[in-house]
Amino acid sequence: MKIQNKIAIIFTVLSASIILALSVFVYIFGSESIAASFFHRLEVRSDIIGHAVLEENESRKPIYYDIKERHLGDLPFEKHRILLSLNDAGVKKKLPLPQVFYDELARTKEARYFEKDTTYVGRYITSGKRKVIMISSAVDLYGLAEMDNLKNLLVTGFFISLVFVFTFGKLFSTQIFKPIQRIVRNVKGINARNLHQRLIVDDSGDDIQDLARTFNDMLDRLEVTFEIQNNFVSNASHEFKTPLTVISGEAEIGLSTPGLSDNARQSFENIYRESEKLEHLTSSMLSLAQTGFDGKKEEWGALRVDELILSVKEAADKIIPDNKVSINFENLPEEEQKLVINGNKVLLKAAFSNIVLNSCKYSDNRPVQVSISHDKTYVIVEVADQGIGIPDREIGQIFVPFFRASNTERYKGYGIGLPLAHNIIRMHQGKAEVWSKVGEGTRFKTYLPFCYKGL
Ligand code: ADP
Repeated sequence: MKIQNKIAIIFTVLSASIILALSVFVYIFGSESIAASFFHRLEVRSDIIGHAVLEENESRKPIYYDIKERHLGDLPFEKHRILLSLNDAGVKKKLPLPQVFYDELARTKEARYFEKDTTYVGRYITSGKRKVIMISSAVDLYGLAEMDNLKNLLVTGFFISLVFVFTFGKLFSTQIFKPIQRIVRNVKGINARNLHQRLIVDDSGDDIQDLARTFNDMLDRLEVTFEIQNNFVSNASHEFKTPLTVISGEAEIGLSTPGLSDNARQSFENIYRESEKLEHLTSSMLSLAQTGFDGKKEEWGALRVDELILSVKEAADKIIPDNKVSINFENLPEEEQKLVINGNKVLLKAAFSNIVLNSCKYSDNRPVQVSISHDKTYVIVEVADQGIGIPDREIGQIFVPFFRASNTERYKGYGIGLPLAHNIIRMHQGKAEVWSKVGEGTRFKTYLPFCYKGL
């Protein structure tokens, strides 16, 4: 999940919890204050009725009722019951009041109870020596409707605010992450071939600009290191190239000398073959160095993978004349465009030559099958041999420079061919997979994205 979405969700959950807690508080507080005020209103009425009941002077009784009627009015479903004592089972039976209500009434001379929308109050009313126990009830229709309204308002408000909070949270986090996204986009565009590019740094002085500046500093250091390494490889390869050409040329001249003894011929052939191999190695290194990273020396363009593989086979024929490399074209894509990739021919040739020559070498020249196929995105080149294989626990290391598997003592090598090939494939936005079993063989599957994107 993207960090912006995470922030928006956390922001929403946090706000939702706060709004929910606040809504519950408002609801409870509101309902309690409405209930308290209704209890009070009912108690006042209960008092008046109680005093009316206790009034000895019959002519004054209507005054109480009149005051209640005129100044207070009736509550909905208002009812008053008179208990002569708390043991008045007849009245108690008709009321749904629990024993705790009567206990409270006995203890504090007043009690309150609420059940099924009905409010009950109980009170001891005394006048002189006379006393009466009043139990009054009424339904707070108005208060209940108000509470219902409040509930609906809070629930609707809660959901509406959720939508607002999420939307604003998203906008807010997107806004905050905009500079980071820009950095990510820029960084994605920087690779070994355009290491001179830098991130844009404005002078806002915030942390993100600090990050961009730090990254630029790192790129400066990387560029210098790359340059030193590149120049070294480039110079060294150049220096090797001339003597090697001379050696192989001399070996060729030697081979054409008439009356050569078998031993001498064998030696000249060995010199010729080994110098060809070394030339191949140095030219791989040189071509890698030549691609550079400043974007000036590279020769990238559209190229066909089948043609590339044919040229690899030609190179292999030169280095190992009796190789048994065969190319399987049966699974070629129907649309030719799916064979065309954007790449550097010299580099890719070096990469595939390394893989194919390894297969010949580590299978003691047994048959090597190269097949070209495709999937939705990639042209797939598979090189399969029947060689010595790679021990299971070492497969993960074969792309590490200078690594050689433990079963290769019999074979000459330096451990740089595969890392080189791997780098080249990655430079082309491709990937490589290896399957291998000791004693059975090895399969290298290389995926390179084709340019064709369909109609
Ligand atoms: P090397 O010069 O040793 O061949 P590479 O970089 O080309 O160096 O290969 C690295 C290691 O990967 C080899 O030393 C070998 O152990 C293993 N390897 C590569 N290709 C094969 C193969 N086709 N069969 C078996 N092992 C292989």
